[in-house]
Amino acid sequence: MEEWHRQRSETFRSPRSLPPDFELYPSEARFFTSLKEGPKTGLLDFAVPPYYLSLAGAAENDPIRRQCIPRVEELLKLPYEDDDPISDLRFSPVERLVHRYKDRALLLVTDECAMYCRHCFRRHFSSWKSGMISNRQLSDALDYIAGKPEIHELILSGGDPLTLEDTRLEYLLDQIHSRLQRPVIIRIATRIPVVLPQRITPALLELLGRFPSIYIITQFNHSREITAESSRAVGDCVRAGIPVLNQAVLLKGVNDSLRSLKELFQSLLEIKVKPYYLFQGDLASGTSHFRVPLREGMELYRLLRQEVSGLAMPVYAIDLPGGGGKVPVMDAYLEELENDESGRPLRYRFTGPDGNRYYYPAE
Ligand SMILES: *Cc1c(COP(=O)(O)O)cnc(C)c1O
Ligand code: SF4
Repeated sequence: MEEWHRQRSETFRSPRSLPPDFELYPSEARFFTSLKEGPKTGLLDFAVPPYYLSLAGAAENDPIRRQCIPRVEELLKLPYEDDDPISDLRFSPVERLVHRYKDRALLLVTDECAMYCRHCFRRHFSSWKSGMISNRQLSDALDYIAGKPEIHELILSGGDPLTLEDTRLEYLLDQIHSRLQRPVIIRIATRIPVVLPQRITPALLELLGRFPSIYIITQFNHSREITAESSRAVGDCVRAGIPVLNQAVLLKGVNDSLRSLKELFQSLLEIKVKPYYLFQGDLASGTSHFRVPLREGMELYRLLRQEVSGLAMPVYAIDLPGGGGKVPVMDAYLEELENDESGRPLRYRFTGPDGNRYYYPAE
């Protein structure tokens, strides 16, 4: 059995399956016990591969632990939070395809992830539709894209596309290229290099290398995720001619300090991964304990610029709630901070590229 299959089959999927020496804090255990008290909707599954769990420390607020072990705060849904925070569904012309920007579209090829990141914003998917894209869904999506010549880039997302077996991936990529009959950039959005680097095998790289213009966009959020294994995985991608970029999420208790962000972005450059985006947390249900106030994020970003090279700087961006799209935060899109009656900061007002107004809470 290949190591990545072993990791998949030994993935921890319940609190009882965790190693005996891995003790849960009450704040973590209470998440699981409350599930037993009654059915909950819209919650993200639990899964963590042995490799990723081995990186987690014993402290309650360990940055790796926070990303993989659920906490009771996930059951909290604030009034402005949503299961579909950036309105993917509104921009879905056919099943599993999100077409928000003119020149690029996003295909949700599977609902499975190797690990369910506790801060994930696309959290409705694990209970949304089941399994991986069917041949009919793929065919309908490709019909749509074929009829829109302005689509120049296809993002394979999910879920995590690299949880698919090589044969299925090969079928997807073959179909995309044979049906579209035009050059198309393929971006694979995957956390696999971080959470299950053993999946990056010579056979996978050989397969991906057969197709032109494939990019891998991954998500390292902390420098402790840069290990011998994950460095090897991205190094192999780069050697196979596949550029690797990183989309980090700004997460409270994980990377919300100048030192942590600086270490992360500098270490990524050392393994030839270009920091692409740093995302402000989306307003996904049950993620408030991860959210860094926008004002703090802007200050961190401003300070970071004074400490690291331009190459190490990602674009600090926000995906505007309600479907406004991604915009850089430090830009003219941000108009002003609105106060409530008592003069306390209430929300930020943005004007999206479409000219509409969007809001983000100040807290
Ligand atoms: C994030 C996203 C993209 C990619 O946006 P970039 O700014 O090019 O990285 C494309 N489509 C959808 C629906 C997205 O959410
Ligand atoms: S791998 Fe991506 S889609 Fe899957 S849970 Fe993590 S952040 Fe969400």
